[in-house]
Amino acid sequence: MITPWDVSDNIDYKKTMENFGIKPINEIIKNIENPHYLMRRGIIFGHRDFERIIDAMKNKKKFAVVSGMMPSGRMHFGHKMIVDQLLYYQDYNAEIHIPIADMEAYAARGMDFETTKKLAVEEYITNYIALGLDPEKINVYLQSKYNKVKDLAYILSKRTNLSEMRAIYGFGGETNIGHLFAPLIQVADILHPQLEDDLKTSRGIPVVVPVGIDQDPHIRLTRDIANRAKEYKFIPPSSTYHRFMTGLLGGKMSSSKPDTAIFLTDDEKSVKKKIMSCKTGGRSTLEEHKKLGGIPEECVVYELYAYHLIKDDKELLEIYEKCKKGELTCGKCKKYCYEKIVEFLKDLHEKREAAKEIAYKIINNQL
Ligand code: SF4
Repeated sequence: MITPWDVSDNIDYKKTMENFGIKPINEIIKNIENPHYLMRRGIIFGHRDFERIIDAMKNKKKFAVVSGMMPSGRMHFGHKMIVDQLLYYQDYNAEIHIPIADMEAYAARGMDFETTKKLAVEEYITNYIALGLDPEKINVYLQSKYNKVKDLAYILSKRTNLSEMRAIYGFGGETNIGHLFAPLIQVADILHPQLEDDLKTSRGIPVVVPVGIDQDPHIRLTRDIANRAKEYKFIPPSSTYHRFMTGLLGGKMSSSKPDTAIFLTDDEKSVKKKIMSCKTGGRSTLEEHKKLGGIPEECVVYELYAYHLIKDDKELLEIYEKCKKGELTCGKCKKYCYEKIVEFLKDLHEKREAAKEIAYKIINNQL
């Protein structure tokens, strides 16, 4: 069982897709006018009902994107992937809703509301804005302060029961009631953009939720509830699924293990150290590497290029081929990688101070 609170290292994406009816994105990619580079590269690999969003993008119709976050530590490159997707939708004038899951953090992780708020604003919202999200066009909110969502969660909670929550999330007898209720808040996060403030009138706009596969239980529950609550005329939300980034040392990338991730606030020295000691697909000796070529499919450096650092497909392919032929050595490749990261982080650092002030203003206005 995959749940939002317990992701294993070895996810079998294909099997999970088959088990839960997630469709491969490559079957519909030809219908997308300008697919995101993460879609072209198979990093966004699956979807549910994304056709609706393709239609909205193509015909300039209104649609919304919901991307919640539960801050649990410093923001790293794995988290950045979500912002890259939001920027894509921003270019299509989508409504962007960013719930901060402080209620879930309280119930599921035992975090107090003040700590979650500070972390969300200083680490996440600040970086989201510095990375290019337009603060005028996003709806960022703390779940605990947003009555529209809390009211809708309570109303919709009647549409599910304990047996279903246990089947989807594996909740046991020891689960606290706050944790049990937290997914209902997420359901309301996802569905509320479809309703007017009166929580009765449908706006008839489709919603897409870009997520990692661990969040699919929320999507399934939301779609089921949307179908059951017929009087609201909800459109079941669409979703896309992206792969998780590998940690720098192989295994999982995690905020709580600093050596596994590049953080957006890392300095040059730590970036260099982390990249120089990360796992690559290089052979054990230089001679062997030149003779047999490297294995970019197993290389964290190549992953960083594909997920973040190189947007040009041609340049990425060149690196792939040179690596495969053994023409590119890991030492040279790593140096290019950390120089690119350092350049990117320097620019972000400069934008962050102004962004932080705006992030606080947004949240304080909600209080
Ligand atoms: Fe990875 Fe670059 Fe080495 Fe190839 S040459 S294995 S892409 S670090």
